[in-house]
Amino acid sequence: MFELTRSQKEVQKAAREFAKGEFDKDQAIELEKTNQFPAKIWKKAADLGFIGIHFPEEFSGGGLGLVENCLVAEEFCRKDSTTGLALTNAALGGECLADFGSGELGEKYLPPVAEGEILCAGAFCDPGAHAAWPNTDTLAIEAGTDFVLTGEKCYVINGVTAGFFIVLCQTDPAARPAKSLSLLLVESGSPGLMIESQGRTLGMGMSSLAMVRFQDVTVPRTNLVGKRGKGFTLYERYLNAKRITASAQALGIAQGAFDRALAYVKQREQFDRKIAQFEVTQHKLADMAVQIELARSITYRAAAEYDSSGKDAALPAMARVATGRAAFAVTDEAIQLFGGYGYMTEQEVERFYRDAKALELFGSGGSHRKKVISKSLLGRLS
Ligand SMILES: Cc1cc2nc3c(=O)[nH]c(=O)nc-3n(C[C@H](O)[C@H](O)[C@H](O)COP(=O)(O)OP(=O)(O)OC[C@H]3O[C@@H](n4cnc5c(N)ncnc54)[C@H](O)[C@@H]3O)c2cc1C
Repeated sequence: MFELTRSQKEVQKAAREFAKGEFDKDQAIELEKTNQFPAKIWKKAADLGFIGIHFPEEFSGGGLGLVENCLVAEEFCRKDSTTGLALTNAALGGECLADFGSGELGEKYLPPVAEGEILCAGAFCDPGAHAAWPNTDTLAIEAGTDFVLTGEKCYVINGVTAGFFIVLCQTDPAARPAKSLSLLLVESGSPGLMIESQGRTLGMGMSSLAMVRFQDVTVPRTNLVGKRGKGFTLYERYLNAKRITASAQALGIAQGAFDRALAYVKQREQFDRKIAQFEVTQHKLADMAVQIELARSITYRAAAEYDSSGKDAALPAMARVATGRAAFAVTDEAIQLFGGYGYMTEQEVERFYRDAKALELFGSGGSHRKKVISKSLLGRLS
């Protein structure tokens, strides 16, 4: 059975206390309404080492594992789903540099991310091609010591303000699909790079989503992340880490909505009784708690497995399926328990519900997660 170590419990406590001290409900409602990134809290979180806690120390990270990153994501999203998502997605794509990039790339680009100076972004999904398949149309053609990049990516989190992008592109279109791709780091401000906000979204209202276009963007060969032609393999490995962190975000959102619903049913009275005294309420709470506990178990186990070997692709996908469903079901039930009040912005659970939906969608769709799981069950079919 998986148990947190003493130092992991300390990280969990520190993240909980930070969120309690720094996240403010009224401020969160205002930032979400005006689509603003929580920049001040981000800087403080970075100063205390919460951003890039799982990046190596030589790149200004915390030198800790994915378990610790998940504990931070859970605690932040539990206290406030939208602030938590914005902060724990601030280093999105950075794992590619930390895990596969050259030392020089890591040294140059990761410290400002971990120190809260720039956001980074993963640009993987073409508008016309499913993110989970090796069929991007974004093309990098070799030109001397550079590549010249053309194509477009959609729904890029942090895209509007990111300092750099990790881009999945074809470098060897003649090779078979899985060997034709590479990851390239593209700095924002590069000539030919065009960024357009995709506007308002259902949830994740403190993060930007952008359409990113590359029109003959010159990228030095030294910005190759990992080996040329290995892009899809590396992207799949990155997706495993991302699936686990997203599971922790979903877990925190579910727990946060549950906390609020639990407090509410103990004080709200109907028919001269607290609504917590109705058996139907008690059963709802029990069902929510079961889903959260299962979500927590699979998330921690997947994170610990990733830290120790990282070879199991099915477990992160299972965690993502289970926690995405749990977050959506629990936040839905939380609104129900609040009754009409739950529909009001003031009670926060409606925002948790909207944020939970994002976690079912991003980072490769549900059908690909199930494909990964069934492949591990069935093996290769002739
Ligand atoms: C909030 C949010 C944040 C995101 N952040 C990023 C980001 O930072 N970087 C990035 O690169 N991308 C990002 N994305 C893109 C995301 O990864 C894609 O939206 C996702 O992979 C699904 O691709 P799609 O939107 O093209 O849907 P499609 O692939 O067109 O899917 C549409 C529908 O068809 C179904 N479907 C697709 N294939 C199959 C199949 N084989 N069998 C059965 N059903 C199928 C899907 O389940 C879905 O219901 C984000 C998306 C969202 C919503």
